[in-house]
Amino acid sequence: MLKFAGIGSAFNTQLGNTSAFVKKENSLILIDCGGTVFHRLQELKLLDTIKNLYIIITHMHPDHVGSLGEVILYNYYILKNKVNLIYPNKEHIVQFLRSIGVVKDMYHIISSNEIKIQDENLGKLSIEYIPVSHVDTIETYGFMMQLDTKTIYYSGDSNTIDLQILNKLEKGEIDSLYQDTCGLDYEGNPHLSFNKLKELIRKQYRDRVYCMHFDKHLDRAEIMNEGFNAAEIYG
Ligand SMILES: [Zn+2]
Ligand SMILES: [Zn+2]
Repeated sequence: MLKFAGIGSAFNTQLGNTSAFVKKENSLILIDCGGTVFHRLQELKLLDTIKNLYIIITHMHPDHVGSLGEVILYNYYILKNKVNLIYPNKEHIVQFLRSIGVVKDMYHIISSNEIKIQDENLGKLSIEYIPVSHVDTIETYGFMMQLDTKTIYYSGDSNTIDLQILNKLEKGEIDSLYQDTCGLDYEGNPHLSFNKLKELIRKQYRDRVYCMHFDKHLDRAEIMNEGFNAAEIYG
């Protein structure tokens, strides 16, 4: 259901910073906006015809918000369009943007743990943020998203999958689960290792699970051999 402008981890820039999107006519949902993302959006010509742009942010590491300022400024000054920015902690993101010269009348902020939007092209969109375990230095969220008739879970960066999410997957309440997955496996890892993913997800549920945010230590073929999906770069 999601397409990807980039699928890499913070330091694996060859694959671009992980960022997903859904586009329908002139509406676009963008998930995260790391340092490489504005450039990719320009390459893919994704922004220029967009009237309704929703940017969902999972957390404020540079590989998730690094080019957010540019995307907002480009929309505001060039496309004469205000981005709808979605993040649970309004104060933090507004302060961050202000510090890079992006002030509040340049974008709309939608800030709550549960968000419901009615869009003219996308239809009903609802987002429920869920705090996840990533690093001690900043807050990090995953979210459940309902769009049209589909329900997805998107992990953001997280080193585990909550039991309630695994239960929903097993009960068929999640159509697609997107998980930050890495090849390296060590104590204190801020990301979920592929070994741990295999422990968490039983074989019969793996066809609904998509790995993303790849480091250089994870092999695509291995992901597929184990019955999972691997996110692919669009275009
Ligand atoms: Zn990341
Ligand atoms: Zn992160």
